[in-house]
Amino acid sequence: MAELKKMYINGEWVEAEGGDKLEVINPSTGETVGIVTFGDSRDAQKAIDAADVAFKSWSKLTARERSKYLYNLYELVRNDRDQLAGIVSAEMGKPLREAKGEVLGTADNFMWYAEEAKRVYGETVPSSVPNKRIMVNKQPVGVVAAITPWNFPVNMVARKIAPALAAGCTVVLKPAESTPLSAIRLFELIEQAGFPKGVVNLVIGEPESVGQEFTGNKKVRKVGFTGSTRVGKLLMEAAAKTVKRVSLELGGHAPFIVFEDADLDAAVAGLFESKFRNTGQQCICTNRLYVQESIVSAFTEKLVERLKNAKVGDGRDKATEIGPLVNERGLQKVLDHIDDAKKKGGKIVFGGNRLTDGEYGKGFFCEPTVVLDVTKEMKIYNEETFGPVVPVVAFREEAEVIELANDTDYGLAAYVYTKDNSRCFRMSEALEYGIVGINDGAPTQTQAPFGGFKESGIGREGGRYAMEEFLETKFVSFQI
Ligand code: ADP
Repeated sequence: MAELKKMYINGEWVEAEGGDKLEVINPSTGETVGIVTFGDSRDAQKAIDAADVAFKSWSKLTARERSKYLYNLYELVRNDRDQLAGIVSAEMGKPLREAKGEVLGTADNFMWYAEEAKRVYGETVPSSVPNKRIMVNKQPVGVVAAITPWNFPVNMVARKIAPALAAGCTVVLKPAESTPLSAIRLFELIEQAGFPKGVVNLVIGEPESVGQEFTGNKKVRKVGFTGSTRVGKLLMEAAAKTVKRVSLELGGHAPFIVFEDADLDAAVAGLFESKFRNTGQQCICTNRLYVQESIVSAFTEKLVERLKNAKVGDGRDKATEIGPLVNERGLQKVLDHIDDAKKKGGKIVFGGNRLTDGEYGKGFFCEPTVVLDVTKEMKIYNEETFGPVVPVVAFREEAEVIELANDTDYGLAAYVYTKDNSRCFRMSEALEYGIVGINDGAPTQTQAPFGGFKESGIGREGGRYAMEEFLETKFVSFQI
């Protein structure tokens, strides 16, 4: 029997008040890879109380002092990269190479915010009255409750807790229940980095119950969430009762637009990156491919060639480029989108099936898939598929594709491939998306703002933009 992994509250590793446990499954093999304690609102409340007490001293430290802890953590995460990447791959199936990239990105966040902590500046503003002076200060918002998803199980944690801690906030984190093991390892490193007790707390437990405590408890001043638009809306509504600040990184439905003047090889490489990374399970993944009419055949042929050479397999195998879906439910959604497209006239030109032969039979594998003749009536055109399927839609001209691309409630990421400079600018301005990759299928960087328009979210993560999310603005008027 595997050792029971615990939560980290007020500087101690503890079991859930209710004594429940949860198994963590490897989606490549169906094997149990860990057992964790599984709590509820009672554990969340304990953690919030600890964070509230710790806030009083943590927020008083100088930025330089806070920065040192974050820098320690950066070094610890970097040194632990092989172990952490192995855990990420085992608990959610991500190919090892990508998992290492994720862990290095995690470390980079701690380094970035170790630096950013020192650059929180206020302002003085000229007064209209001669005997008054206006001072504007920035102060940490207070206790932050964060909820993270399973698709980037360590980096999503870093992107929330690093800027929060840098700003002087204390944190209670709830990771996704299917991927708590990498978060637990990260908290072991947080403990080693020497953070004072109560500053960073880990609660693993029943999402609804923990979520209600996070949104309802008055000691929490901010809720940060990455996940589905459905849950984001629930949290926003619940947080309204105590007027908490919220940052929401929600779903996406990214258009990937290829014009006839594009470098097709570069576009295929960019599409592969944006569509198949993490087996299509990221919110900035391409979900609709728009190809200009005259190059549909040429582009599709190149794409299919690339997919023929893509190795699908166990995430822990070094050669794997495309891993499994995270669970049976995720796989069934992808297969349902493929079936629905077929029924409505879609033509499968590559893949289209669950993989069941040999070792594949134990996991949740789907062939990388390309569907032609996709129409607006299909689920795959309107919903986030979160899997390795490329729906191809032909378009005639620029104005038409802008309209098609913007015709959605989502607005996270969009991609454009063209060699025409003027068009690059026109497209980047016309697309109603928070992130636009121009001839770039993998635009994310630690220092760049990450977040969505419309129902894809509120607020930004990344760089100095994330700091603002954890700071209050205070106006002090001096009469002299
Ligand atoms: P997905 O469907 O991709 O798993 P979710 O939005 O359901 O996305 O999950 C993202 C995170 O939100 C996870 O940590 C999950 O436990 C949490 N979550 C799910 N439902 C709720 C809820 N009702 N309240 C709070 N958190 C929730």
